[in-house]
Amino acid sequence: MDKPSFVISPEQAESAANQLGVSVLQLLPSLVNPAKSFARPPISKFHVGAVGLGSSGRIFLGVNVEFPGLPLHHSIHAEQFLVTNLTLNGERHLRNFAVSAAPCGHCRQFLQEIRDASEIRLVITDPNATADPDADSDGFLRLGSILPHRFGPEDLLEKDFPLILERHDNNLTISDLDPISNGNTVELKRTALAAANRSYAPYSLCPSGVALVDCDGKVYRGWYMESAAYNPSLGPLQAALVDYIANGGGGGYERIVGAVLVEKEDAVVRQEHTARLLIQMISPKCDFSVYHCH
Ligand SMILES: [Zn+2]
Repeated sequence: MDKPSFVISPEQAESAANQLGVSVLQLLPSLVNPAKSFARPPISKFHVGAVGLGSSGRIFLGVNVEFPGLPLHHSIHAEQFLVTNLTLNGERHLRNFAVSAAPCGHCRQFLQEIRDASEIRLVITDPNATADPDADSDGFLRLGSILPHRFGPEDLLEKDFPLILERHDNNLTISDLDPISNGNTVELKRTALAAANRSYAPYSLCPSGVALVDCDGKVYRGWYMESAAYNPSLGPLQAALVDYIANGGGGGYERIVGAVLVEKEDAVVRQEHTARLLIQMISPKCDFSVYHCH
């Protein structure tokens, strides 16, 4: 893979699997190493790649991303990148994925926000990983077998509450959406508001969204996603950076010249200060603005 392609269509997946004489499911592990090459881990130098098959037949990639100059909890894990990539592309379910190293506890927990998470099957491609007696004959393991006695959304939410990959709308609005600002800002505000409306924040009820624009005028977006265990939650700027990395052709962050955050003014969980810190660190000249919705 020369140019990063973080979403592979069902047709491309079928064709690649046919060429190798394998099933689409068996194709997943073979894409892990190419995926790893897109990781951005300047601190650990430990590249992680995750490759998931969605219910639509599309294949999605995830990689780990680290930010020098900031505490480690700003990092994006490959499995979080993968889930973000699924949500940004409207994928409704993840049933199987392959990953280069055993998922850390943080990611096992984050994945619990997907409906029937225990039934998701994964294969660890690290040749040093010990064979698991619980694995199916094709080498895949159930997530439930590596995270027993789980704590998840069903402990805090109503049973039919829409989970992280499921359709929902937060019905947020901004009263002065078109003030005397230039066209670029209006587009970013609208995009960030639309992102906030897709934000998954069932625990704090403080949804938020971010829109970014690069120096070519291309716009990216992402939204805040919470975990029942709180700490594994992923901020809206991190999610927008997933869109940037997946669709920005691999450029440096300094190409991001504008960022807009939309969140509630009276939110008990606010992203503004953390997002400002991160964007200033990775793209010091980026213009950052915050708008409040209700
Ligand atoms: Zn992890």
